[in-house]
Amino acid sequence: MSQATPDRRMAELSAYRERQVELVSQHGRRSARGNWHAHARIGIMGGTFDPIHNGHLVAASEVAWVYDLDEVIFVPTGRPVFKLDKRVTNEEDRYLMTVIATASNPKFTVSRVDIDRPGVTYTIDTLRDIRAQYPEAELFFITGADAVAEIMKWKDANSMFDIAHFVAVTRPGYSSKVPLPEGKVDMLEIPALAISSTDVRERARNGEPVWYLVPDGVVQYIGKHGIYDEQ
Ligand code: NAP
Repeated sequence: MSQATPDRRMAELSAYRERQVELVSQHGRRSARGNWHAHARIGIMGGTFDPIHNGHLVAASEVAWVYDLDEVIFVPTGRPVFKLDKRVTNEEDRYLMTVIATASNPKFTVSRVDIDRPGVTYTIDTLRDIRAQYPEAELFFITGADAVAEIMKWKDANSMFDIAHFVAVTRPGYSSKVPLPEGKVDMLEIPALAISSTDVRERARNGEPVWYLVPDGVVQYIGKHGIYDEQ
């Protein structure tokens, strides 16, 4: 078996160190999966979150893994455009439940951009606000597949695709009623999305348990504030 001479070994070590210095001085970062990215990769998890449940959390975590994201920002909607005639829980309650639910995951944060912006919530405004905060980052907008079914009718739809990639998360057995625009939206099936906010609201209203469908802190928040008692 041939052995490297001390000189050859030193040369190898020195080349290795030079490569490390080069990497460190490059603009960018190494992701949790070990890949080198020139820019931060940020997920924007948009939803009404009435309430946030474990399916949303698993979906965000899965998308973060598959797309190698550095962070996922949960963005509870202010006034959802397609629900102007429906009862939606107060935005501060939805925001606080989202903060409680995401607090323990170091990759998850929550943004108030949609809640603090006056008027109806449009995703184009969400994306512009987050882009202003992260001018260099690669953005990934994540939401439910049913929500994006009519995406081409959303305000400034084509401009949205210039700002972010779109990832639609689906429930098991989901089939799209409307064909999604070719090549614009990725789909990812998340088994835990068998949970739905509608179901959680109904169970809470009927006094049925919601333990383990939503994080423990959210169970307590719903009970303490009687969020769904009257709905
Ligand atoms: P929604 O109609 O309440 O939800 C439709 C379906 O998608 C439901 O099954 C819902 O399940 C699911 N879903 C919603 N958000 C999800 C998420 N983040 N992860 C996994 N499943 C999700 O949808 P929405 O909450 O009003 O809207 C979702 C996002 O799309 C928001 O950010 C909203 O601002 C945006 N949007 C924008 C426009 C526009 O710009 N014109 C129009 C519509 C929607 P759950 O009920 O269990 O969450």
